[in-house]
Amino acid sequence: MGYLKGFEVTFRKLFKGTRTGETVTVPYVKDSGPKREKAERLHGRHVLNRYEDGMEKCIGCELCAGVCPARCIYVRGADNEPDDPVSPGERYGFVYEINYLRCIHCDLCVEACPTEAITESKLFEFSFTNRTDAIYTKAELVVGDDGLPQQLPWEDWSDLAEVAELSSAWVRATAPSGAAAYEGRVAWSGELGFGVKPPEQGQTAIEPSSRTGEDPVIEAEVHEQGHDEHEQHDDGHGGGH
Ligand code: SF4
Ligand code: SF4
Repeated sequence: MGYLKGFEVTFRKLFKGTRTGETVTVPYVKDSGPKREKAERLHGRHVLNRYEDGMEKCIGCELCAGVCPARCIYVRGADNEPDDPVSPGERYGFVYEINYLRCIHCDLCVEACPTEAITESKLFEFSFTNRTDAIYTKAELVVGDDGLPQQLPWEDWSDLAEVAELSSAWVRATAPSGAAAYEGRVAWSGELGFGVKPPEQGQTAIEPSSRTGEDPVIEAEVHEQGHDEHEQHDDGHGGGH
């Protein structure tokens, strides 16, 4: 009978609810008040971005599909028509699909993309009732002429400000090459409807330039130079690694 002890909490909650009418089900916050603030790096449903002139950023290279651990991206590339190109490169993605029954929102596709074409928005409130709807096609993923994602019937867009402002937080937050001294330096292309988004200041909250009075790039170069000199110094003493 000892195994019944494992059900203690279950039974206690079950009968408590039955006797008092108290429910143990927490209603979704959508119906009971304001939503909690989303995490700054929340990974929601994807968007395929476009340049400020309307050209698509995707060049159909399939790197995102290759890196996806869930194998949920399907991309096919094609040559651009010289007279009517879809993207600035030679190629563009003419098929692009993401299967949200598989996606684990790991963001690896975003990291792999060489053109910042695919990013994850903060939209996470979408639920579909059939498998076809779960597969987002290129027509649904490419941002509209206003640069916003295209709203599908089953998506909750009650917080439009977040949809508009935070669709590419990963790209804007990450320093190129990972050197912290580059934080705050814009190194990404403009987006249709938004232009060049400013860098986030999540880690320092203060512009590196205002923190030190110096250009962060110069600082990084000085740092690298010092590092090289240090290595040469070590080698000169016969201590090569
Ligand atoms: S977020 Fe991860 S699982 Fe989802 S499509 Fe991108 S790489 Fe695949
Ligand atoms: S989204 Fe990026 S990685 Fe994927 S095919 Fe397009 S350009 Fe390549």
